Formats: sequence, C-alpha cells, structure tokens
Amino acid sequence: MHDDDKLSLDLVWQADGHLTEVAITALGDGEVALLPEGALAHAAQCQTCSSELGRSALLSLRVGDALREQAAEGARQVVRESAAPRGPLPLPAIGVALVLSALGAAPSLAAGAGGLHERWAALWHACSVVVRTGCAIAGSGALSGWLTALPWISAVLLVMVGLGVAVARGRQLSLNGGM
Ligand SMILES: [Zn+2]
Repeated sequence: MHDDDKLSLDLVWQADGHLTEVAITALGDGEVALLPEGALAHAAQCQTCSSELGRSALLSLRVGDALREQAAEGARQVVRESAAPRGPLPLPAIGVALVLSALGAAPSLAAGAGGLHERWAALWHACSVVVRTGCAIAGSGALSGWLTALPWISAVLLVMVGLGVAVARGRQLSLNGGM
C-alpha cells in the first residue's frame, strides 16, 4: 500500500476537523481509495460533512441534468415528433435525500462493526459510480432512448442502496441483540 496514492492529509482535513472540499468531491466521485483511513467514517458520522457530500452529489446530478437537457435538445431538432413532456424530475434529489438519511443512520452502523463499515464503503462507491456513469452516458447522448429513464434508474439505485444499508443495519442490530 502506497501512501502516495492517497491525498495528503492537509488536502483532506480542514483545521476545524471537517473534510475539505477536495475530500468531499473525491467521495462524491467514488474515489474512496484516494482518501485516508477515517475520512469515509467521518463523512458518515458528521452531519456537516454528510450534508456537504449531499450538496456535492446534487451538484453533479444537476450537471448531468444540464448535459441531458442539451442532448435532448439536439435529439428534438433531429426527431421533430410529438413533444414528450419532460420536466426535470425531482427523483434524483429524493434519492440523494434518502441516501443522506441512510448516512444519518450510519454512525450507529460504523460504531457497530468494522465489517459493516466496509460494506457501507463498497455500497457508497458502487452507488456513486453508477450515478456518475449514468450521467456520463446521458451526457454523451449515446442512449437517447434511455435519457428519460436515467434519472429514475439513478433514483431507484440510490433508494436500493439506502435500503441495503438499512437492512444491513437491522441485521447487525438483531445479531447484536439476539445473541
Ligand atoms: Zn465533518
């Protein structure tokens, strides 16, 4: 394991003990491997940093929306058929809110077991990668037929991740309590 692969501590931690914007962005991008031990756990436990993380996630969703809108605009000029109503769906935002509520549940999770912490990291990573990939695909316009479905898919994935965390947490609680 090379520490060179990770961000240096002064890039990750602010003087007040919270994560820097660099670290938050790296988390939002799913670049968990760049972050030193403890950064993810802090983001999960700290209200300030988890809401920063949510803002950053929302921002990249909005960028995806803008790109998608642009791609749709191009498609509309080519295919001038029935103008399908396509207002911005609030679902991605709802999905992020759900994930954040899962993040809110994370402190007990992280405190409970190291194994769960790793599972949470993997879930978060998978989730952000999927959402970013979705936005990238939407932005490229490669799947124009799927454009309207992507926010839904992203939102469903986010909800599933949130549920996964909740289920994992419940299972851990019953393991702890039942034995
Ligand atoms: Zn913090």
